[in-house]
Amino acid sequence: MSESHNEVKRALEEIVGSEYVSDDPAVLESYSKTFRPDIILNIIRPEFVVLPGSADEVEAIIKIANRFKKPFVSGGQMYFSNFTPSKDGFITIDMKRMNRILEINEKDMYAVVEPAVTFAELNAEAQKKGLFVRTPYAGGVASVIGNHLYLGFAGVDWRFGIAPQNILAVEWILPTGEKIKLGSLGLPGAGWIWGEGPGPDLRGLLRGLLGVSCGLGIVTKMA
Ligand SMILES: Cc1cc2nc3c(=O)[nH]c(=O)nc-3n(C[C@H](O)[C@H](O)[C@H](O)COP(=O)(O)OP(=O)(O)OC[C@H]3O[C@@H](n4cnc5c(N)ncnc54)[C@H](O)[C@@H]3O)c2cc1C
Repeated sequence: MSESHNEVKRALEEIVGSEYVSDDPAVLESYSKTFRPDIILNIIRPEFVVLPGSADEVEAIIKIANRFKKPFVSGGQMYFSNFTPSKDGFITIDMKRMNRILEINEKDMYAVVEPAVTFAELNAEAQKKGLFVRTPYAGGVASVIGNHLYLGFAGVDWRFGIAPQNILAVEWILPTGEKIKLGSLGLPGAGWIWGEGPGPDLRGLLRGLLGVSCGLGIVTKMA
């Protein structure tokens, strides 16, 4: 292993602990699978897989990626496999540990989730409160945030709206490693209730058909 590889590994371990950083070829192989013909013919493993436990850790990992000029990618449940590296040297940030439903607000009918929360998990909790969340044909194993940022279509969208239109406040780590808060989160005490303003509505940068696949950073919490 090169000196810079070991240096990056040490830096990542300092952030998340050695049990949550891997450069084991068997582990890396499982993060290189894809349906994309261009990549199937030229499979590229990430250099590291790292599992952060908080938004602060995501922020620190992105700063390390920038410092060592390493590209990075992430996903929710990584079900659609658009997260595979497109060249050598990638850090794959697996969000599995960030799997908390932070709030289900019965009165205003919204939920605040972390990236690895699935539709099945959110529905199970919402239904206890007489609520539900519409689930895409991708199924209950898809991540709520991943789907809202990626395709976000479901058979009942004529009734409930397509997922990207339902995004409210967002906590987002930019590719530079800065954490920003969109919508009402930008106002002290206003909570997660709306996505517009103050200032320009930046949610349009995050969503869209097939999304931007982490090209604009990582969403760490979303309502
Ligand atoms: C058989 C099949 C059926 C499908 N049907 C549907 C469908 O009916 N409707 C639909 O909308 N989609 C569908 N999809 C597409 C896709 O699987 C879904 O959109 C699904 O929600 C993706 O969930 P995931 O957790 O696997 O996301 P991932 O694959 O983990 O992520 C999807 C994309 O979003 C990015 N991303 C994920 N989380 C974050 C984050 N926190 N911050 C920044 N970027 C992030 C990833 O980099 C990736 O590019 C289908 C896919 C398959 C294979």
